[in-house]
Amino acid sequence: MHDLHSHSNYSDGQFLSRMVRAAERAGLDGIGFTDHCNVSSLTSAKDARAMFGFNLDQTYERRRHAINHLRAESEIEIYDAVEMDYDTRDEAGIRAFLSEADFDYTIGSVHYVMETNVQVASAFEDNSLDERKNIVDRYFDQLVALIDSELFDIAAHVDLLERTPPLRGLATETHYRRVANAFANSRTVPEINVGRTLSDEIIHPRSTFFEILREYNVPFTIGSDSHRPNDVTARADVLKDVLSEYDIDPVLPCNQEK
Ligand SMILES: [Zn+2]
Ligand SMILES: [Zn+2]
Repeated sequence: MHDLHSHSNYSDGQFLSRMVRAAERAGLDGIGFTDHCNVSSLTSAKDARAMFGFNLDQTYERRRHAINHLRAESEIEIYDAVEMDYDTRDEAGIRAFLSEADFDYTIGSVHYVMETNVQVASAFEDNSLDERKNIVDRYFDQLVALIDSELFDIAAHVDLLERTPPLRGLATETHYRRVANAFANSRTVPEINVGRTLSDEIIHPRSTFFEILREYNVPFTIGSDSHRPNDVTARADVLKDVLSEYDIDPVLPCNQEK
C-alpha cells in the first residue's frame, strides 16, 4: 500500500513530519508528497499561486532536504513528488521545470479550464447548460492533451468535474472512451483518488468511467489526496476497501522507466 497522492505544508497540507507519522500509524508501506506546483506564465495562474502560496517550484530543494531527514528516521518509503497544474500553453515551462527538479514521480492535474478552477461550483451556477457542456468538453480536451504530452507518470482525479454540482453528470461515454484510448497509448497512468470518498461518497473515477478504463486494461495508482494527518489514516482504510472490492493491483510509477 503506497499512497502516492498527499500534500504537506509545502502547499496546502500540514507538516511533513506529522503526515509521515500518520502514514506509519496507518500501516502504509509508503507515502508520496505531491505538493501543488504551477509554473504557468499566464496572469491568472500567477494570481492564483500568489493567493494560495503554492511555491514548490521555489521550495522543492528545501522540501527535499526535509524528506531526506524524514527518510533517515522512518521505516516506510517517502517519495519526493509533485502535483503540477497542466495547461497546454504551459508545456514547455513544465517540461523544463520537471527536468530540472527530477522528482521521484510526477502527477499532472487539470484544475483550471478557461482560467477558472473547475472545483468552484459558484463559478458555474449562472451558466447555461450549453456553457457548462462547453466547459466539460474543454476539460476533457485538456485531460487528453495532458496524457498525450507524456509529461507525467500519473494523471490525477480524472473526473474532477464530478465534485462540482453544476458540472456533475455532464460527461459522456464518448469523453470517457477518448480518455481511455489516450491512456492506452501513453506511459501516464490514472489514479484511484479517494479524496472525496468519505465526505461526498465520490471515488475518482466514478463507476462508468472506471469500467471503461478497465475495459482498455489501463493500470491504476492509488492516492488519498490527504492534506491532514487524520485524512491519511482514515483514507488508508478506504483505499484498502476499494482495492479489495474491485480486485485492483495498483502500480508504482517510480519503478517504471522515466
Ligand atoms: Zn488536485
Ligand atoms: Zn492533490
